Amino acid sequence: MSAQKKEKTPSQKQQGFGADVSRLLKIVTHALYTNHDVFLRELISNSADACDRLRYDSISNPDLTKDNPDFRICTYKDTTARTLSVVDNGIGMSEDELTDNLGTIAKSGTASLMEQMEHVGDNKGKLKLIGQFGVGFYAGFMVANKIQVVSRKAGEDKAWLWESNGHDGFIVREPSQTETARLDGKRGTAITLWIKDEASEFLLDQKIEMTVKEYSDHISVPIFLGAPELVAQDKDAKPINSTSALWMRSKNEVGKEEYEGFYKNISGGYDEPIMTSHWRAEGAIEFSALLYTPTLRPWDLFDPSRRNFIKLYVRRIFITDNLENLMYPWLRFMRGIIDSEDLPLNISRESLQHNPTIDKIRNAVARHILSDLDKLSRNDPAAYATFWGQFGPALKEGLYDATEHRQGLLKICRFYSTHDEATELTSLADYVDRMKPGQDKIYYLSGESLENIKNSPQLEGFKSRDIEVLFFTDTIDDFWLQSVLDYKDVPFQSITKGDVDFDSLDDDKSEGVNDNKGEDKKDTEKKKEDSKTDSTISALITKMQELLKDNIHNVRISKRLTDSPVCLVAPDNGVDMYMERVLRLHQKYEPNTKPVLEINHDHSLIKKMAELNDKGKDISDATYMLLDQAKIIQGEPIDNPSNFARRISEFMNKAL
Ligand code: ADP
Ligand code: MG
Repeated sequence: MSAQKKEKTPSQKQQGFGADVSRLLKIVTHALYTNHDVFLRELISNSADACDRLRYDSISNPDLTKDNPDFRICTYKDTTARTLSVVDNGIGMSEDELTDNLGTIAKSGTASLMEQMEHVGDNKGKLKLIGQFGVGFYAGFMVANKIQVVSRKAGEDKAWLWESNGHDGFIVREPSQTETARLDGKRGTAITLWIKDEASEFLLDQKIEMTVKEYSDHISVPIFLGAPELVAQDKDAKPINSTSALWMRSKNEVGKEEYEGFYKNISGGYDEPIMTSHWRAEGAIEFSALLYTPTLRPWDLFDPSRRNFIKLYVRRIFITDNLENLMYPWLRFMRGIIDSEDLPLNISRESLQHNPTIDKIRNAVARHILSDLDKLSRNDPAAYATFWGQFGPALKEGLYDATEHRQGLLKICRFYSTHDEATELTSLADYVDRMKPGQDKIYYLSGESLENIKNSPQLEGFKSRDIEVLFFTDTIDDFWLQSVLDYKDVPFQSITKGDVDFDSLDDDKSEGVNDNKGEDKKDTEKKKEDSKTDSTISALITKMQELLKDNIHNVRISKRLTDSPVCLVAPDNGVDMYMERVLRLHQKYEPNTKPVLEINHDHSLIKKMAELNDKGKDISDATYMLLDQAKIIQGEPIDNPSNFARRISEFMNKAL
């Protein structure tokens, strides 16, 4: 026993921070001089979380709070020592928790954030990134050159002290009696910051009070100005925050600023919400919800965990902020709280995972948010376009994840298209309204980026017929298209797959022209000429097919080209070409479908090749070059760049 105890005696040895923390701290301490007030918000929100967690644990284990059932946060300065303290009687941290929580960043994906951060040169850019991330506890080092954290976990005897200057790692040791006396009673955490010269304003009560009011007014735990023992003695002590549960108030009582302040508190974000949804559901299930849509995409939006951060309360008591099925993964960018009236308070977090009430809440919330987004799209298209740019790709996951909300989602989906030269987003409803008579498909072209595809040769035939084509540029598009086959019974059709059928549309166009006799005569003459060209063109096609038989499925005359000589498309039963590339990249998929090479028989280059071929000249180099050209336009790698370069040189040589 004693040997074990000895082993457990804390070493004073300096411990290094996790690599991520060191890099983060470097940025925090050297780059962030503006807006450093937020450190107090971060510390207070940690304290409030600690109180919420203990309040929840004490429902099943009331002993944990029998020393003092009331929760509070105290903050005070000491001008002589130049310190500012934040003390809470929340759940506290054990020795290991001090090391783990304050020595490493437990959140997944931090490494990738840091990587992004290193590519951002200026402080403003870094600040923006940190804003999306929130630096949490470490924000304290913006204003302090030393921080001590004394903590005693509720229910444990021993307190521990963590200390760091923010660059040489940290130590965890046993605190002295005076250090332990910083705690508020028998549990919780006392954080002491040694304030830097340039942040001396935080040694003024007015500044502390103002900052708390500005950033932490709606924290549900009361925050007092003064040391815990003084606050405890003073019967008239009043909290400096208003402590009201904002979400329980009625919508018309709450101002924009209050909403935004609360958003910053719970999200840790520095942006403003683009949409605030606040409502109370009554009837079969009862809950209040205050949910925000951020303006900026959180840096970890596409983290594989797809977790949400919504806080679940039961009748004003915080239960958890890590309940997977409380929110659909495709709404994981939302921030805020849901407060249920129906769940029992003493429900375990585990049993929430399969609770039918939670399923009902999730559904009702999704319906409400979809309808709010629909309203936003109509009332403020510019804001909606911003929203869509940030979160559209996440929302579209719902198209295959949640068939029950598919129609609601399709309604708010927006795409660029050939309409308006791809400058304005369009809805599917507007697309369908603009469809040509006889058009029975929603045509789309997918690719990596708008820039890449908006001048694709495959579009030519559509543009010349004024048929609108949607641009799908998110990787996710090709996935939802596997399960969403139509919009209101109009099927989606890739323009790079299979043959296109313009006949029904063209018929429509030429109506009323055919009954003209003169035209008929011209037609017959033209037909004669055509049949001669036809035979040289078919000979060319046969020749090209022979030359390219290893690379392509077949060669055929294109209906979709007007200006370019060639393009590649997927065969009728094949996978769309861009989809195939995505699959190859992500799933190491080996394609077994060869593309179809379409040629434009009206193009002078093709005509010339047909002529040369007819005279028995060698057209192999030109054929290979055409294939390479088609691939390059498509953004595909070419098979043999050195052959391509050699042919180019030869052609240039001849031309010059
Ligand atoms: P976050 O709050 O986003 O988890 P922070 O950097 O703010 O990140 O805090 C890191 C962790 O340290 C918290 O998750 C919590 O476990 C612990 N912690 C920080 N402050 C306190 C506190 N006052 N009481 C208890 N635990 C705390
Ligand atoms: Mg925090």
